[in-house]
Amino acid sequence: MRIAIGEFAHETNTFCPGVTELAAFKSTSWSEGPDILSRHRGVRDDLGGMIAAAERLGIELAPTLATVTQPSATIARHAYETIRDTLLARLQAAGPVDAICLALHGAGSAEGIEDVEGSFLAELRARVGPAIPIVVSLDLHGNTTEAMLAHSSAAFYCHAYPHVDRFDRGAEIIDIAARIVRGEIRPVRHLIRLPLAIPPSTTFTGPAQRINARCFEWEAHPGVLDCSFTHGFPHTDVSVICSSVLVTTDNDPGLARRIAEDVAALIVDTLEDFQQPLPGADEAIAQALAATVLPVIVAEVSDNPGGGAPGSGTHLLRALLTANAPDTCFGFIWDPTTAAQAHAAGAGATIEVSLGGFTDALHGAPIAAKAYVKSLTDGRFKLVNPMGAGSIVDLGPMARLIIGNVDVLVGSRRSQTLDAQLFLLHGIDVRTMRIVALKSQQHFRGGFQDIAGTIIRADTPGFTTSKLTLLPFRNIRRPIWPLDPLPGRQAWSHWSEPLPASSDPDV
Ligand SMILES: [Zn+2]
Repeated sequence: MRIAIGEFAHETNTFCPGVTELAAFKSTSWSEGPDILSRHRGVRDDLGGMIAAAERLGIELAPTLATVTQPSATIARHAYETIRDTLLARLQAAGPVDAICLALHGAGSAEGIEDVEGSFLAELRARVGPAIPIVVSLDLHGNTTEAMLAHSSAAFYCHAYPHVDRFDRGAEIIDIAARIVRGEIRPVRHLIRLPLAIPPSTTFTGPAQRINARCFEWEAHPGVLDCSFTHGFPHTDVSVICSSVLVTTDNDPGLARRIAEDVAALIVDTLEDFQQPLPGADEAIAQALAATVLPVIVAEVSDNPGGGAPGSGTHLLRALLTANAPDTCFGFIWDPTTAAQAHAAGAGATIEVSLGGFTDALHGAPIAAKAYVKSLTDGRFKLVNPMGAGSIVDLGPMARLIIGNVDVLVGSRRSQTLDAQLFLLHGIDVRTMRIVALKSQQHFRGGFQDIAGTIIRADTPGFTTSKLTLLPFRNIRRPIWPLDPLPGRQAWSHWSEPLPASSDPDV
């Protein structure tokens, strides 16, 4: 058996100014052909899972294109078209395959195309015809559309947030594709799109964990291939924002619908628990200083580059510098100019910096400070967070500055902070610190849950705030909770797998 694999993933935050150019994909992660195998083999991501499963099952892989970049502004139209055309050309050059497995995201938008995945899958299906199974993995922050399902044979979302199960989903789609090819299963799906924009919520605890538990109970039911609660991505202004339930059974549409309705009802019943008031910067630092179980991880959720925010915001950093407590650190703020300034001055120098705050007014003004250059690095390290473990992170030239009592890491490329390796790279053992501040929404839990004595999430003014009613939505479909009162059951949108022509009930 021969299966084509590939990846095209972008979480688009249309609130970000400008567009995401092709160069962003090329410079972040762009592999073609066999390079995909060498880059992702052994890595805990979707492609790593696909490669491991194929090698275990004796399936030959035809690698096409794999590209991702940091969540950011709307994808430039020519960038999307280049990615699409490259993947399709690689697929054609690969020759005959029995199935196609792709890692996608589900919240991609390009100029003039608000549902990139649905549009791409429609073109792919038109190209390869109806007979070849197309099985995709998706991010639970995807805003599921009917087009994504209509033009794929099966779709499997990661269940965990942090996404520590991406490797498992990658392996699963290879396994499912192989079973479809062998005629062992016939996936049929039922989708319920719910008019909800829920704030980013971990599945390690709280309401999302309880809903997942119900999904996993259903997955143990005979004939059920998958039961997914997708959170959706609310930090973007497109009409298709939703949470959803997607249930896949082996040729049992009635069961798929029944389960989807059960889980959807549980989500609606649990909804108020998703509203978690979060402290602002000053209050978060005050809480951290009062905490007794150390270290305290303070995550600035609202300036999360992992959701499209710049990562150069200064609100939380300013509060930490004002507190000026010993054994506190911040890792990291995106500021290539200051990083370059520190590299030019050299370790041991003292420099006057204007830190962060250079992208817009919302994320805070620059911080003027005198900083001691403690150490300088190339910003490269290997991730240990179970989400993506083994992959190389490259944050460009970095500096560890000391401002007052606070250690501040400065990076040249945007990213959220996923684990403590970043701090180790600069000589900081976070286990010895009182406060470790960073920028991330929930993914940091994957890397820090075993280290953190206390976790505090801070919601400062920023593009990825959990206060969704503050975002300037224009295109989102209304009514939608929490911007409007919870719409009734009549507002649930159903999609079912079309029945094959041979089984049309014409008797
Ligand atoms: Zn996600």
